[in-house]
Amino acid sequence: MKDEKKQPTASHTGQSRSEFDFIAALRQRVGPADKQSLIEGIGDDAAVIRHTASKETVITADLLVEDIDFRRTTTPPYLLGHKALAVSLSDIAAMGSRPLWSLITIGMPEDIWQTDFADRLYDGVIDLANRYGVQLIGGDTSRTTENIVIDSIVVGECTAGISVKRNGARAGDQIFVTGLLGAAAAGLRLIERGAHLAEQNLADDDSQKLDHVLLRQLRPEPRVGWGIVLGEEQLATSMIDLSDGLSSDLNHLCQASGVGARIESSLLPIDQRVAELCGRRALDPLQLALHGGEDFELLFTVKPENVARLPRRVDGVEIKRIGEVTSAPEGVKISEGSRVWDLKPGGWKHF
Ligand code: ADP
Ligand code: MG
Repeated sequence: MKDEKKQPTASHTGQSRSEFDFIAALRQRVGPADKQSLIEGIGDDAAVIRHTASKETVITADLLVEDIDFRRTTTPPYLLGHKALAVSLSDIAAMGSRPLWSLITIGMPEDIWQTDFADRLYDGVIDLANRYGVQLIGGDTSRTTENIVIDSIVVGECTAGISVKRNGARAGDQIFVTGLLGAAAAGLRLIERGAHLAEQNLADDDSQKLDHVLLRQLRPEPRVGWGIVLGEEQLATSMIDLSDGLSSDLNHLCQASGVGARIESSLLPIDQRVAELCGRRALDPLQLALHGGEDFELLFTVKPENVARLPRRVDGVEIKRIGEVTSAPEGVKISEGSRVWDLKPGGWKHF
């Protein structure tokens, strides 16, 4: 979850600064990747390092902080462990690469440490790791004064030269997304209004829909299979995972590639269960799909001549074409019939 009440704070200079400005400044300080051993440094979903002529290593880190990224009272530890690993697997998938190893670092207050919380958390980590042949190889354990923090590092690999960056989109490429959008954000809003997972034996049709939406928030499924196929088959020209929200992440991808984009609202694969549950609760499925975040689907671009080579589904997950890459001056737009708007980044910001 992402707590929307913790919005911009002023820095010591008195001006608010975004996470993206901070990361851009870091990139400047460390300089560009040398492209010999460091293929990609700060700025993409993961860093890429070349060790041998044939393979590259791909590394990503993600931090989950209690009361910012999740709440102890609404997130069972098993699902928290799952999510900590899942968000990093998603970044490796977004590089078109295969995950291999995981390092998990935990910090928690003494009272939580004395319960079985950490054991259940690692049940979630290890079950997901086993599903994808990922091995837990290390981490660190420490105490905090109040909040639980979990840092997840995943190391993966790909054939040298084929990792998929955010910067490869070109005008005319077709824009695709895996899976369905909007349910993770809907799930967060419903959790904040007091919804919780149903007892399994009580699950009627409506509570099954509710559970589906809540689990999209609490138990995201990284698109590991799609990431590997799109990378190894060299089908995607650029890719990013949808962590901040489609509007923000499409803007990140377009900025990195120096292009514009036009997506069509009627093509967006909005999760039907969001529409069914949210209509009654005054939540707008289109807004959730565009700006909600945490769907952890893959957003990628494909050259028109390669579209026919795309598999229909991988691991039971389908893809949907949602628009086309345009030139930079055309900006990032969304159309509905003949009406066209700017698609401004409206997703999650940490600061
Ligand atoms: P994602 O949402 O895909 O995990 P982020 O927006 O967190 O990506 O990070 C974007 C890029 O900035 C990544 O390359 C990441 O490694 C880098 N980055 C983020 N925070 C830091 C930091 N504190 N120090 C160095 N690099 C960072
Ligand atoms: Mg990412």
